[in-house]
Amino acid sequence: MKCGRRIENESEELCSSCKRETSAFDSGRCTFIYNSEIGEAIKQVKRNGTREFLDFFGVYCVGRHELFLKSIGPKALVPVPLTDSRLRQRGFNQSELLAQSFSRIMGIPVKKLLVKTRNTKDQKGLNRWQRTNNLIGAFKAEGNEPMPDKVLLVDDIYTTGSTVNACAAVLKAAGVKEVYFICIAAGTADD
Ligand SMILES: [Zn+2]
Repeated sequence: MKCGRRIENESEELCSSCKRETSAFDSGRCTFIYNSEIGEAIKQVKRNGTREFLDFFGVYCVGRHELFLKSIGPKALVPVPLTDSRLRQRGFNQSELLAQSFSRIMGIPVKKLLVKTRNTKDQKGLNRWQRTNNLIGAFKAEGNEPMPDKVLLVDDIYTTGSTVNACAAVLKAAGVKEVYFICIAAGTADD
């Protein structure tokens, strides 16, 4: 009900990490269970910005979560940012391309309300404390306009939730009231 990952026990509403940790985000959804095919498609998007995959993810994710998205009514789609140096390296931000793909279907604008001010280590393999420390101060809110009251964060892979959580904390501190997210893929919550 909170992070949107699949859990084994269907009588539970929250996964073990959502029960254990409070989150800055309100709730979110992940569309696919991470496997090698989805991993390969996401890699194509990261390396080449492959339009077919972007369109597919847009149609599939928005369709799959239509009720969720209608019930929250976000005013803006906010991509999880890359640092400037990573952006120069790659040429584009895959989360921004995904957000644009969602935007074409949903008719809701993409707003780059966040910047990433330094590179961080890969979250995978870090423990809970290290994950949180790794991201402290890495994101900053940006923009001169007043913040929208409800936003939908967009990212490719939900690993531990620390990234969307750090982004949500910054957006809320900047005045956003409700922060939701959609990620393309995640492992099951019990991984
Ligand atoms: Zn959860």
